[in-house]
Amino acid sequence: MVNKKAVSASFVLKLMTLFYHHFLTKISFYTMQYDLHSHSIASDGTLTPIELVKRACEQGVDVLALTDHDTTDGLDEARHQAQLSGMKLINGVEISVTWEGHTVHILGLDIDAQNTQLQQGLAALREFRDWRAQEIGRLLEKAGIEDAFNGAQKYAHGNLIGRAHFARYLLELGLAKNMNDVFKKYLVHRKPGYVNGKWAALDDAIGWIRASGGVAVIAHPARYNMSATKLRRLIQEFKDVGGSGIEVVSGSHNASDRHNIGQYAKRFELLASMGSDYHGPENPWIELGRLQELPQGCTPVWTLFS
Ligand code: AMP
Ligand code: MN
Ligand code: MN
Ligand code: MN
Repeated sequence: MVNKKAVSASFVLKLMTLFYHHFLTKISFYTMQYDLHSHSIASDGTLTPIELVKRACEQGVDVLALTDHDTTDGLDEARHQAQLSGMKLINGVEISVTWEGHTVHILGLDIDAQNTQLQQGLAALREFRDWRAQEIGRLLEKAGIEDAFNGAQKYAHGNLIGRAHFARYLLELGLAKNMNDVFKKYLVHRKPGYVNGKWAALDDAIGWIRASGGVAVIAHPARYNMSATKLRRLIQEFKDVGGSGIEVVSGSHNASDRHNIGQYAKRFELLASMGSDYHGPENPWIELGRLQELPQGCTPVWTLFS
């Protein structure tokens, strides 16, 4: 009798220990899933901030940054949904910058969206966007495409207008076979609907981000078609004016980009970021949170988050 009891007690204890260890292993092996670059309809994404956050949650993202182009308008809605979904939202923005004739994107992560200096800067960029949209419409009209401004505006849902909205309208007209094709045919340098960007200066953009308590990160550095020398100069200047991070893992980086930019992160002592640059489900090869790990030896940018 006594023996039986002792045996079953030790069996239960053993089970509990096993379970406990299993549980511990589970937590110690659990890596938080970060996605620190995404868009909503507040700029040129196609999901509302609510839909975006819900989808990120379904995809297993633990920490999401909403980083719309030149606006923070989606953040309140996203934060509200993140609270309901039990997910952490990082306030973000992707600022358009003109540097040595190139358009470069600088992410501001963990910003205070109430900051006046930041909001004044972003407002000026949106003003340029409004003017540019009219101009793109006018140029496309000259190329025989009528009413492109209104067509694009329909896709912008009353929010800022970007080239992606024009692209969607031109696709609707059947003028190209996919987004990449529309951009190549109409919306890049030397094509009928191209208007030269006059975006923020690099040091201004970083100044606004820092004034709002955020971390400045160079977005998708491998996408700028710069020579290695020029890219290194950009990184050095970015660092000199107060930038602290670089996107190493990105939806638009391949394995060799991740390796190269990872090396730059270490060499220039910049914090490494990762983000999908998700714009919506129309683009099936990019999904929220489906990202490779940071290369060995990179310090993650989220070590700075409050
Ligand atoms: P904008 O800031 O209005 O000049 O537009 C830049 C945006 O256009 C990027 O953030 C992308 O969303 C989109 N874009 C640029 N090039 C392409 C491309 N080749 N294919 C699809 N989308 C593109
Ligand atoms: Mn975009
Ligand atoms: Mn970008
Ligand atoms: Mn982006």
